Amino acid sequence: MRRKLVAGNWKMNGSADSIRKLLQGIREGAAEVAAVELAVFPPFVYLGLVEQQLSDAPVAWGTQNLSEQVSGAYTGEVAGSMLLDFHCAYVLVGHSERRTLYGETDDLVARKFAAARKLGIKPVLCLGETLDEREQGVTEAVVARQLKAVLDLEGIGAFADAVIAYEPVWAIGTGRTATAQQAQDVHTFIRAQLVALDPAVAAKTRILYGGSMKAANAGELLSMADIDGGLIGGASLDAKEFLAIAKAGV
Ligand code: PEP
Repeated sequence: MRRKLVAGNWKMNGSADSIRKLLQGIREGAAEVAAVELAVFPPFVYLGLVEQQLSDAPVAWGTQNLSEQVSGAYTGEVAGSMLLDFHCAYVLVGHSERRTLYGETDDLVARKFAAARKLGIKPVLCLGETLDEREQGVTEAVVARQLKAVLDLEGIGAFADAVIAYEPVWAIGTGRTATAQQAQDVHTFIRAQLVALDPAVAAKTRILYGGSMKAANAGELLSMADIDGGLIGGASLDAKEFLAIAKAGV
């Protein structure tokens, strides 16, 4: 049985003050949704604050990106070892905004995934097709290609404790959500790729849905057999809404 994971990607939002309030709200409601694992992904500069406020709360944290490099002359980058200093359990890799706005390739995403695993940080590998790709009928080919880049580098065993987030790009921040069946179909396809390599690992891999998930649609999405949680953007900036999504997965 896979424990559901509801994770908040805060993107480049918030201030010390608003994040303090958001964390307080999440802390207050976390016990009520204990059946679901919670995690938050703040901007790097607020990691210390997040660690301080969540160290005694049942909520994990991580960052939205990391460098594929270990250390050195890489101005503006943040190494995985630095995330360990703040006890990050997870890190997002390959979010569609990183892929499209910052040119991250499948190969680079795979190297970031590997860098995280090497340090014992669980990568959350984000995959998903654009609207154009869906309309061309190549959704499966796109997610298979994105997944294969990581499988080729790291092997199927890496997915026993890694997480995959299927995020159709056309549903991110648009208010347009995939139907529960559309999401389930792609999740089934992703799991089938893993099953073909190792059914025991595939049974353990959590596959989250992301793309305008909110309290109003979470119940239906989270009731699907292969949807093991959610990666939430906009709705995770409101503690009540974020917790209501988690509650829908209990
Ligand atoms: C995301 O960016 O990971 C995301 C799912 O965003 P939103 O929930 O705002 O669509």
